[in-house]
Amino acid sequence: MPLGPRPGRGWGTIGGVSAVPSSEPIEFCPGCGAVLLHVADPRAIHPGASRSCGRLFEVTLRGLREEGATDAASAAVMRLADAAYDAQHPVPGDPTRLRAALDRLGASAGGTAAADDAAPPHAWRTTIADVAADLDVIDLAVLVESWARTVHDDWTAATAARP
Ligand SMILES: [Zn+2]
Repeated sequence: MPLGPRPGRGWGTIGGVSAVPSSEPIEFCPGCGAVLLHVADPRAIHPGASRSCGRLFEVTLRGLREEGATDAASAAVMRLADAAYDAQHPVPGDPTRLRAALDRLGASAGGTAAADDAAPPHAWRTTIADVAADLDVIDLAVLVESWARTVHDDWTAATAARP
């Protein structure tokens, strides 16, 4: 096997622990909890999300986002995807963004949006990782709609379960 270029810089630390190169380093997304292979991408794509999760969202929705520039139906699906993603990755200090996402999800589901003081669910039934995994067999618009509805349900269930 030919040796490819190695990362030239030293490996950093995560939480004070040396991050040594291993065969498959993984990371948890602090927002949706998706466990994904770590990506060596310095850009933080979405605040509140791990880089690998933000990157997966970007890559999975790229085609749709491009179509959305000229196609109203694609743009509507894209807005729903952005809302689902925002609702799973709340940005600390930006309640307006979360509020807008929850409102959009509620409207799309034809129900009541999660309340203003709602706490995020402890676990999610569907994440962008599930959407990406089913992309080969199911239409993206269908996947996004089902994902958005599940995120909405998880939010409202978490709200209802509180004392
Ligand atoms: Zn995530």
